[in-house]
Amino acid sequence: MNPSNPPIEAAAKAPSAPTAAPSNFIRDIILDDLKTNKYSGRVQTRFPPEPNGYLHIGHAKAICLDFGLADEFGGKTNLRFDDTNPSKEETEYVDSIMADVKWLGFHWDGLFYASDYFDQLYAWAVQLIKAGKAYVDDLSADEIRKYRGTLTEPGKDSPYRNRSVDENLNLFERMRAGEFPDGARVLRAKVDMASPNLNMRDPVMYRILHAEHHRTGNKWCMYPMYDYAHGQSDSLERVTHSMCTLEFEDHRPLYNWFIQQLGIFPSQQIEFDRLNLTYTLLSKRKLLQLVEEKHVSGWDDPRMPTLVGIRRRGYTPEAIRNFCGAIGVSKTNGSIELAMLEHFVREDLNKRAPRVMAVVRPLKVVIDNYPENQVEEMDAVNNPEDASAGTRKVPFSRVLYIEQDDFREDPPKQYFRLAPSREVRLRYGYFVKCTSVVKNEKGEVVEVHCTYDPATRGGNSPPDGRKVKATIHWVSAAHAIDAEVQMYETLFTKEDPNQTVEGQDVTANLNPNSLEVIRNAKLEPSLANASVGNRYQFERLGYFCVDPDSAPGKPVFNRTVALKDTWAKIEKRTPEKAIPEKAKR
Ligand code: ATP
Ligand code: MG
Repeated sequence: MNPSNPPIEAAAKAPSAPTAAPSNFIRDIILDDLKTNKYSGRVQTRFPPEPNGYLHIGHAKAICLDFGLADEFGGKTNLRFDDTNPSKEETEYVDSIMADVKWLGFHWDGLFYASDYFDQLYAWAVQLIKAGKAYVDDLSADEIRKYRGTLTEPGKDSPYRNRSVDENLNLFERMRAGEFPDGARVLRAKVDMASPNLNMRDPVMYRILHAEHHRTGNKWCMYPMYDYAHGQSDSLERVTHSMCTLEFEDHRPLYNWFIQQLGIFPSQQIEFDRLNLTYTLLSKRKLLQLVEEKHVSGWDDPRMPTLVGIRRRGYTPEAIRNFCGAIGVSKTNGSIELAMLEHFVREDLNKRAPRVMAVVRPLKVVIDNYPENQVEEMDAVNNPEDASAGTRKVPFSRVLYIEQDDFREDPPKQYFRLAPSREVRLRYGYFVKCTSVVKNEKGEVVEVHCTYDPATRGGNSPPDGRKVKATIHWVSAAHAIDAEVQMYETLFTKEDPNQTVEGQDVTANLNPNSLEVIRNAKLEPSLANASVGNRYQFERLGYFCVDPDSAPGKPVFNRTVALKDTWAKIEKRTPEKAIPEKAKR
């Protein structure tokens, strides 16, 4: 590489992700269980999404834990769809979830559905009824809630709590046969109406729901509740470590109760903190609202935190996995800076993305003393981080485009880029000096005239040792490819988008500037063959990825992330002064 043409992204050197897995308390539990031979040295996990939406970055954390920890100990991981709520579940979601898990780089051992177990769950419910541990209740949902009591008041027994086993068996069979309308009856576990844990106050096991299921069709008109289905599904799959998020901590006694009453394989539930990201909404239900109300173009809108969205935005699976590894797990819910996620994608793309020159907001530059019909092929380095990426040729000619931002007619003090009588380096090109400008009727500069110094070919310093303070990028006007570029800001203006004033929902916090479409960007000609999903660093501007909406000859690029690494600054690992003016934008 040419020493007088230093890499512009010098500042983006970020701390690398730890290569050894950081310690986490779940790993410690597994290590302990292996030591005591609790599960005969076996590690079996599962990832249990409900197919009621697309996976988001929060699920990625769970996936990395479920699959990552099993892999680490030579264990197995099942993908199990928790499809116990037919009214909200669809095959489209099942398919997208499988594609997303694969894209993240994981492979499941068994593929299961909670609905595979409906017959077994039914048989076990009958077993519990026979043991006097479950009963059919005719109270309405409202009444059940009232009878349940509160944290300070014990619950009250339902008047149906002491039905005979025979009556319960009869009613439960008739519930199954479809004799009763939705909501008429439920099956409840008979645990303890005075338990300090509300989940133990005779939780509902089955509700009547005359709805077609995406897999079992109309076979069932009642469906098991999450609490009854989940632990038993884990047990059937002989799951050893069943990781879930902290809101299920209070459900663990119930999880264990069912397993104990049924005398089945003792899976163990372990809770960890849910991922929350600043400026980001992580709830399938609320993301669905954004899609349905058309606040975004779809589940895969590049502003969405869904895996399909951030993939389209240009994120790599490696970046997401590194991020998930670095955030670790804990027993308290907190919030992670979005800047940290961005840091990890920048770090990954810095290693692998080819550099190209692209001008997003073009300003025409004419080099008056450059021969009219001359074109020179300049050598440009593809990736300073990867010598094997080689070099390419970039055409240089008399008329170029530079960024509007790289010229000021009246430059402020710390501004070192192009200005009248000022000389700068065109990256891989020449030193050029501004001699005059052309303005439109509104007084805006529409064309900049320069002269170049032939002794600075390639951007090298001239024999007289003259220095310039800035290096800017450019594209030859005659060779440029037109492109559309989509620039993004956060989808929400609030750090916590869930924070709303009364009477408003999260959509009140949407950022009206989250998408900016720029239609007349100019790209260097090497991008003619860019295909959908390809990722590049546009020098000095950020990382960009080719969008599927691209058409032949009219590519669309999404900005994945800008170059500036705010996370590194937050972490104070990179001192502010290490970022040269020319790299800051
Ligand atoms: P959502 O509210 O977005 O629908 P969920 O928890 O209902 O989330 P599930 O499909 O039930 O979604 O989740 C599958 C797995 O992913 C569960 O183990 C769940 O705990 C985990 N998970 C979901 N969201 C997060 C998150 N934000 N951080 C970590 N794990 C998560
Ligand atoms: Mg859910």
